Amino acid sequence: MEHFSANSIDSYSIAGDVSVIAICSVVVVLLMTSYVSRTRTLYIFLNIIALLVCAAVVSMVFHHLLVQRNPEFYTAIYVLHVLYHAMIFNVFFLFGLYITEASNMEHRQARVVAIASVLLFAAIVTADIVRTVTGAGVRTAEDGAVIYSESIFLIGYALYIIFLLGLLYHVRGLLYRRVMYGFYGAIGVAILIRVIQMILGHSSLTTMTFVLPVIAMLYIMHSNPYNVTLGTVDVRSMEDMVRTFYARKEEFIFLSMYLPEFDGEGKELPEEIRASVRQFSGRFFRSCVLFQISNGQVIMLVPKRRNPDYEKRIRRILEAFQEEHQKFNLPYKIVIGESIEEISRRNEYVSFIQSIHRSLPDNTVHRIREEDVARFNRNEYILQALADIHSKRDLEDPRVLAFCQPVMNLQTGQFDTAEALMRLKLDKTGIVYPDQFIPLAEQYGYIHVLTEIILHKTCQEIRRLTEEGFQIDRISVNVSVLEIKDEDFCNDIDRIIESNGLTGEQIAIEMTESRSEADFMIMKEKIEELRRKGIRFYLDDFGTGYSNMERIMGLPFDIIKFDRSMVIAAGSDERSEKIVENLAHMFREMDYSVLYEGVENDVDVERCQEMSASYLQGYRYSRPVPIMRLREFLKKGPKKDRAG
Ligand code: C2E
Ligand code: CA
Ligand code: CA
Repeated sequence: MEHFSANSIDSYSIAGDVSVIAICSVVVVLLMTSYVSRTRTLYIFLNIIALLVCAAVVSMVFHHLLVQRNPEFYTAIYVLHVLYHAMIFNVFFLFGLYITEASNMEHRQARVVAIASVLLFAAIVTADIVRTVTGAGVRTAEDGAVIYSESIFLIGYALYIIFLLGLLYHVRGLLYRRVMYGFYGAIGVAILIRVIQMILGHSSLTTMTFVLPVIAMLYIMHSNPYNVTLGTVDVRSMEDMVRTFYARKEEFIFLSMYLPEFDGEGKELPEEIRASVRQFSGRFFRSCVLFQISNGQVIMLVPKRRNPDYEKRIRRILEAFQEEHQKFNLPYKIVIGESIEEISRRNEYVSFIQSIHRSLPDNTVHRIREEDVARFNRNEYILQALADIHSKRDLEDPRVLAFCQPVMNLQTGQFDTAEALMRLKLDKTGIVYPDQFIPLAEQYGYIHVLTEIILHKTCQEIRRLTEEGFQIDRISVNVSVLEIKDEDFCNDIDRIIESNGLTGEQIAIEMTESRSEADFMIMKEKIEELRRKGIRFYLDDFGTGYSNMERIMGLPFDIIKFDRSMVIAAGSDERSEKIVENLAHMFREMDYSVLYEGVENDVDVERCQEMSASYLQGYRYSRPVPIMRLREFLKKGPKKDRAG
């Protein structure tokens, strides 16, 4: 449609507008069949689609009337022409609104943009109407054809493009760069088509140019693809659904299934399990949505309203699950609950449910109770404190307490080593024990700073004790396998020991086995590096994990700490005693020292002595005490010469 060009009528093809309707319909189908976050941008987006479909229809009717060359239709033609333009500019207007909304622009700025956009819209549409009414933009040819000028439309189009590009440029810092490129790209192609159309004197693709940014918006902003084999969507979508439910005061049920074996990077549920998850989702509840939280965890959200008989349904799904479980026989944890106002308001179901999973033993189904929320809140409080300790990285942090359990050296009959054990002391909870914060600290990556603090406090105490003349060989500190992998690990340990004026010989590190083959080589390197500084290494909790002898022997440990479960086992029957005894004997033969943990009474002491023990540790001698009290167990005076 060019400046008074008679050709414009013939240069129109219906194909462009039909395509617009077709593509918009597909977009709507995609939105309906996928899980889409119900944000404000989505509603703007839906309005844009609706307007484009209307504009395409108006454009088709307009061109249809145009070719009739019938004076009876003149009024309709004028009206449709102006209407079409108004719709297109309205789309432009919504694009602007969309950008301000998507970029979370500051409230005041967004208002300025909206006002500018409304003024622009009003000015262009008014100009268009005025020109049409005054006849300045329209003429009738001798053969009855309507010839019209598009100059106002083109000016408006150009102005709006400049306005939108300016707006995009303005918000560039608020949006992710690649998202910007996506929008720029789509707008670029749209302008290109528009220019080509102008050069060729065509008019069929005008509406189409607006569909291109729409596709970019769908793909970048609203696509939330299913995991096609599981039928799940991601965590963010879950938060979104909770938000919507909460806003509508709609109650729901949640079911979480956790398979610990598949948690972790690179692991995936095997196909058989995927197949049953896929089937499970729709079979037992109406309108349920599945969310994949991690490789080993899926959560199902089910609106109560659509499933009034949910108790019956929960029973049925659990029965079916047990049946399936016979086939797979993998450790699982299941948590079931009803929406809780407090958790919905804070939108914290994922961390709430995960904290419950953490506290559950394998192969259990847990129904959420009120206490769970209280415990979760306590956990959250601890977690906040851990985050704060982590960020401050203050080695003197008073919230981290060093406790200590003396270790009996059977060769000397003295307590000349000890194990440092951590506690937290927080305002609202008082003393917090390791089982309540070590797993959290490990999960969130806060563990290393805690280790640094406990090591520092331990070093300070060793220094004090030796200065006062107490005999203490070394104190062992627990270190998590996770932190050893860190590049700076050896340097950090080294620095703290040195800064306290100690040598490596005065410190030992306790660590448990890692099940991962990949960790093995890194651990070996780090252990060797620190051993060169004199630091000893203890293998902690022997007998609780999947002890892999080959790997244990492959690492240069000094002491093997037999877990309390081995002491208990040895006391329970003769066969177990033989096994423990032989294991301990073998280690001793290979120049490891054997330490028994959890020695609670004289019977334990005697048995362990018969089972190649070099060291004993447990309540029989002392519970863990604040590290200042370790002196009560130590001797003063010069050290005796001894081996081991
Ligand atoms: P662990 O390293 O095996 O520590 C020994 C645990 O056994 C301690 O529990 C100790 O209080 C307890 N224990 C000692 N003697 C006996 C006994 O005779 N009978 C029984 N039943 N238990 C006994 P605690 O202090 O609660 O620590 C639990 C776990 O938390 C530790 O197990 C260790 O894995 C972890 N942990 C403690 N402190 C630290 C730390 O500073 N860093 C790291 N990474 N982990 C720590
Ligand atoms: Ca330990
Ligand atoms: Ca242990």
